[in-house]
Amino acid sequence: MKDLSDYLRSIPDFPKPGIIFRDVTSILQNADGFKLAIDSLLQKLEGVEFDVIAGAESRGFIFSAPLAYKLNKPLALIRKKGKLPCETVSASYALEYGFAEIEMHKDSISKGQKVILIDDLLATGGTLEASAKLIEMLGGHVEKILTLIELLGLHGREKLKKYNVESVLSFE
Ligand code: 5GP
Repeated sequence: MKDLSDYLRSIPDFPKPGIIFRDVTSILQNADGFKLAIDSLLQKLEGVEFDVIAGAESRGFIFSAPLAYKLNKPLALIRKKGKLPCETVSASYALEYGFAEIEMHKDSISKGQKVILIDDLLATGGTLEASAKLIEMLGGHVEKILTLIELLGLHGREKLKKYNVESVLSFE
């Protein structure tokens, strides 16, 4: 039987020299690969009690939506600034050059709800740290942060120390 890593293509020097880009499109383009990805994430949520799934734009949407559907939970979107039409909370975080801002609808999470935060990949942890902050600004509790892939060498986990972080695949 194939392992999820068999479906994942790694592209050297993208988007710039020295970076190995883990390209999840190669998983999505293969029906067995996508199914294995979703089933592996589902396995990590077995026995976990929670109220809402939150997905980070944009590749986080791809993996969070099937989980919300399968587990019959609401899906809250974490979007880049300016995309959400109703009242939002926002948080910014540092990028290599400049900063990024993300937002959530104020009514996407209620006070006291337990939230599973999903993205495709954990690198430096900046995106997920800001995403968790948004959930907390809305009164939610981050029950677990779950990604398909983790790049261990970038130590994103250290930024997320206070959370329960799990990933399906990890690379140095
Ligand atoms: P971080 O904020 O943890 O440094 O970066 C994580 C974000 O960058 C994720 O939303 C992820 O989609 C994107 N990202 C960074 N490196 C890669 C990569 O090698 N492959 C993919 N698919 N996404 C990446």
